[in-house]
Amino acid sequence: MGREGGNQEVKEAGDPESGLSRRQILQRIMGLGAAGAMAGAAGEVGLTSLLGMGCSHGQAGKGKTVVALTPDGKGVPGRRWIMVIDLSRCDGCGECMTACSKMHFVPPSRQWIKVLRMPGTGDEGAPFYFPQPCYHCDNPPCTKVCPVDATFKREDGIVLIDNERCIGCRFCMAACPYSARSFNWGAPENPPEAEARGYSPEWGYPRKTGTVEKCDFCPDMAAKGILPPCTSHCPMGAIYYGDENEGTVSNGAGETVNLRNLLRKGGAYRHMEELGTEPRVYYLPPRNPKYKAPDEAGGGA
Ligand code: SF4
Repeated sequence: MGREGGNQEVKEAGDPESGLSRRQILQRIMGLGAAGAMAGAAGEVGLTSLLGMGCSHGQAGKGKTVVALTPDGKGVPGRRWIMVIDLSRCDGCGECMTACSKMHFVPPSRQWIKVLRMPGTGDEGAPFYFPQPCYHCDNPPCTKVCPVDATFKREDGIVLIDNERCIGCRFCMAACPYSARSFNWGAPENPPEAEARGYSPEWGYPRKTGTVEKCDFCPDMAAKGILPPCTSHCPMGAIYYGDENEGTVSNGAGETVNLRNLLRKGGAYRHMEELGTEPRVYYLPPRNPKYKAPDEAGGGA
């Protein structure tokens, strides 16, 4: 599907209240400049008032409420999905990446969850591995800069993208301090299975040219009580997923543990917490690794 082919959809998915097509919206935004948008539409005319739009997902904004193109935007009632990654268990095998990419038809050039090799710190420090999905931040900078509410935070904690609505401005990508988002520049290759299932923000495919994507915390699976593939396929049991309200998380090794104890005893922290983004992904530091060091015989990925 080329860019031109998508423009009809763009027009249809514009703002019905202002009568603007998505192309017109994009032109106006570009006229404002990315810096203004990144600053939260600071200045005399904010993006929200410019577009005559409000926020339909509980974000900041004072304009009129628009009908969301997404499902109700609330997610699974009563749930608050959360992830904990035990860095002392991650041996860098990459099974989480492989399983995630397979299930979401992610092209080989990108990953929704990356496994970074981190250098050791200090004389005692050893290198370790650092799986990094989208953090589904409770104070997400990405959603605040989207001029058309295409990316939004649900009440169950998950941050999603609606590619029926995304205009490809990429402000969200610039706003994310964790580089969690990717852009579909060219015509994506959607396998027949992806086309057959049809699009939903809850699984993010079939992909569309000129739209943004990222880890979605597998909300369709969570609603059925199924662990995401990154979690269920981790042979080390390093990734836990669960419901903060219920107070338990489970890993691929079949362990279900008390969330509060896991965080407290493991000395949990969140990545770049000082930014105030409030990630919903916690890390347990790589103390006493339960795998061979990368420079040991048989160790590393
Ligand atoms: Fe948004 Fe980035 Fe936080 Fe994900 S990690 S919610 S993309 S700011």
